[in-house]
Amino acid sequence: METRVRCAVLALVFVLLCLSGCSGADRKQTDEFYGMGTLVTVTLYGEGRAAEDGFARVRALVAELEGLWSLNVETSDIARLNRSDGGIPDADERTVALLEKAQALCAATDGNFDVTLASLSALWQNCGDENRLPTDGEIADRLARVGTGRLELSGTAVGKPEGVTVDLGAIAKGEAVSLLIRLLDGTEGLTGGLVSMGSSIAVFGGKPDGKPFRVSVRDPKDGTKTVGTLTLLPGEVLSVSGDYERFVTIDGEPYHHILDPRTGYPSASGLSSVAVIAEDGATADALSTAFMVMGEKKTTDFRQSGAYAFEALLIRTDGTLAGTAGMPALE
Ligand code: ADP
Ligand code: MG
Repeated sequence: METRVRCAVLALVFVLLCLSGCSGADRKQTDEFYGMGTLVTVTLYGEGRAAEDGFARVRALVAELEGLWSLNVETSDIARLNRSDGGIPDADERTVALLEKAQALCAATDGNFDVTLASLSALWQNCGDENRLPTDGEIADRLARVGTGRLELSGTAVGKPEGVTVDLGAIAKGEAVSLLIRLLDGTEGLTGGLVSMGSSIAVFGGKPDGKPFRVSVRDPKDGTKTVGTLTLLPGEVLSVSGDYERFVTIDGEPYHHILDPRTGYPSASGLSSVAVIAEDGATADALSTAFMVMGEKKTTDFRQSGAYAFEALLIRTDGTLAGTAGMPALE
């Protein structure tokens, strides 16, 4: 009798193990699509149904955020703000929250991160199309329209001086990654996963094999190579900015897309790429851009000031590396 019971229990355990295995409770599934101007990659571990549902919710939220922040969507909060004379009364609360972060980051980085560089970015884009350098007068005119601190945020209203325009290109993807991880983390049926939006990436939960999530950092000089891989923990966002990402060519010379608000020209701080790990995606994204402009010394000073908690990996233009003390080692 006792043996029969033991056999039945063993058989039941076997069936349950098989069922969980057969149903693929830890199956890895991936979804890829274009959103917010970049390739979005979502990898989820868990039950098939939960993953499918997760993918759908991710796609919906990315579409929603694109509808709020894209310069190319006419009805977005940012496009409406930019077209307006003095601002808009009805921005989404997520837009206002992001602009608040942008203001704090602008002030903390001494204006090196500034979301109101939009008209200067547009000038460089036009000059690329016309194969000519901007004139000093054109640069001075665009720089006169810069100043994230001049945006007035109050409730759902965003006010701005005439001529000031906003481009969230250096902060929106990081914010989106954080919001997407928050959306997925804790979903029943999912044990872990990863969301990557071009230059920002974050993870939640764990992998079925118990190994940590690892991401590689590309070599700024050669897109087919990496400078190494590092471990990314749940709760962290990694953002990378680089002078190789996007640029215009004028007289055969590349002019990259990260602009120095002091000179109006692409940053030339001695850094070719910066990777930042922070808890908040918007912070990681914005700081990786800011440090490209600030260079190594100011970045180290900024770290010591303690204004924001982060770790950074700096890749100098000569290819050598530097990192803050707590930056995970590259392998
Ligand atoms: P990526 O878009 O490749 O992730 P970044 O996060 O570094 O790169 O953002 C670069 C974009 O941010 C530029 O294309 C431009 O729209 C905008 N930008 C450029 N310079 C600055 C700056 N100093 N501060 C804030 N935004 C910037
Ligand atoms: Mg950025």
